Amino acid sequence: MDEVSVALFGSTGSVGTQTLEVIRASEGFKVEVLTAHSNVDLLAQQAREFKPRAVSLATEDASLQLQLREQLVDLNIELVPNSQLQNLAGTSDIAVNAIVGFAGLSVTVGCLQAGKRLGLANKESMIAAGPLVQKVRHTPGAEILPIDSEHAAIHQAMAGKQPQTIQLTASGGPFRTREDLSTVTLKDALKHPNWDMGKKITIDSSTLMNKGLEVIEAYELFGAPAGSQLQLDDIQVVVHPQSIVHSMVTFSDGSTIAQLSEPDMCLPIAYALNYPDRSATSFGAMDFTRAFTLDFEPPNIQKFPCLELAYAAARQGGAAPAWINAANEVAVEAFCEGVISWIDISGVIAATLDKFEGGIADGLPEVIEQDRRAREVATALIETVVS
Ligand code: NAD
Ligand code: MG
Repeated sequence: MDEVSVALFGSTGSVGTQTLEVIRASEGFKVEVLTAHSNVDLLAQQAREFKPRAVSLATEDASLQLQLREQLVDLNIELVPNSQLQNLAGTSDIAVNAIVGFAGLSVTVGCLQAGKRLGLANKESMIAAGPLVQKVRHTPGAEILPIDSEHAAIHQAMAGKQPQTIQLTASGGPFRTREDLSTVTLKDALKHPNWDMGKKITIDSSTLMNKGLEVIEAYELFGAPAGSQLQLDDIQVVVHPQSIVHSMVTFSDGSTIAQLSEPDMCLPIAYALNYPDRSATSFGAMDFTRAFTLDFEPPNIQKFPCLELAYAAARQGGAAPAWINAANEVAVEAFCEGVISWIDISGVIAATLDKFEGGIADGLPEVIEQDRRAREVATALIETVVS
C-alpha cells in the first residue's frame, strides 16, 4: 500500500506534537512538511526524525531562520518562506492545520483549493472565513475532517446522516464553580481541568469563548451554511465536566448518539488521518469495568457572556464571526500580557462586535481586511479600558 503523505502546520504546538505521536504509533504515513512559528530547536529535532521534504518557520527574526538553516545543513530539506504556506498546504495528501489563530487561514484555504483533505484543528480560520471556506471546500477532492474533539465526535455520531440537533459538550473550564471572577489571574486561567492544550485555547476555554467559537465551527461544518437543514439554534451547548462524552447528535426519531473516550487529542487526530478507516492503534479507550458517573448541566450564560456573543455574531452572519474571532485574539493577548483583566475579555469582544461595520468575508483579501479592521477597533477599545 502506498504511504499517505502528510503536511503538518504548527508541528511544535500541542496538536502538532500529538499529530507526530499518532504518526509514530501508526503505519502508512509519511511526513512531508513541518512548520512552526519560532521554536527552531524542536522543529529541527522533528525534521531530523521525520526527514520531511520541506520545513518553514513563520517568525520574521532572521537570526532564527539562519539557526534553522545551520541545524539542517547536512539534510536535503528545503527551507520554504512563510509567504509560501498556502502553496505548501496543497502539496501532500493530507494537510493538518495545527496553527493557532487567524495565522492558519492560508493553510485552510490552500489545502482545500488544491482539492486535498484538511485535518482541521485551526478553528479560527473556519470562523473568520466561513463564507470563503464554504466556497473552496467544494473543490473536487477537497474535504474537511475536524480535529477539534467535539466536531470529530459529531462527525462520527452523524455517520453521514442528518441530525435534528447537535449537543456540543463543554467541560465548563476552570471557573465553572468559582463565584468571584474579578480576581482571576493568568495562572488561574491556564489551569484547565481536563485538557493540556496551548495557551490561547486554554484561555478561550476559561471564558467559554472556545465553546462559542465551536458553535460557529459546528454551524459552518454541519449546519445551514454547509447546505443542511440545521439552524444555529439547533446547536446546543451542554456542560459535561468529565470531558468523556465529546459531543452528541439527536435524530428526528428522538435517538441521541454520543462519542466517548478519555480526553486524548490523539484520537480525533488519528480519526482525521485514517477516515473512512479506523486507526489500528487505540487512543484514550474507556475502561468500562470501573464505576464512574457522567454529569450534564446547562451553561451559565450570565457568568460566561462570551458564549452568547458567539451566537450573536453567527446570527449577524457575514463578517461578524471574523470580527468576534479577531476581537477575541486581541483581548486574550492583552489579558496574557497583563494589560486587561480576565473579566474585560468579554467586554472588549462585545464592544468590538457593537462596532461591526457590515460586509461579507467571502474572498481572501476581504477576510484579511475584516480581520485587520476588527483588530484595530479592539485595540483602540483596549486603550480606552486601560487609560
Ligand atoms: P499551540 O500554541 O500549542 O501551537 C500552535 C502552533 O502554531 C505552534 O507550532 C506554533 O509554532 C504555530 N504558530 C503560532 N503562531 C503562528 C503563526 N503566526 N504562523 C505560523 N505558525 C504559528 O496551540 P494548540 O493548542 O496546538 O492549538 C492549535 C489549534 O488547534 C488552535 O486553533 C486550537 O484552537 C486548536 N485545538 C487545539 C486543541 C488542543 O488540545 N491543543 C484542541 C482542539 C483544537
Ligand atoms: Mg474542542
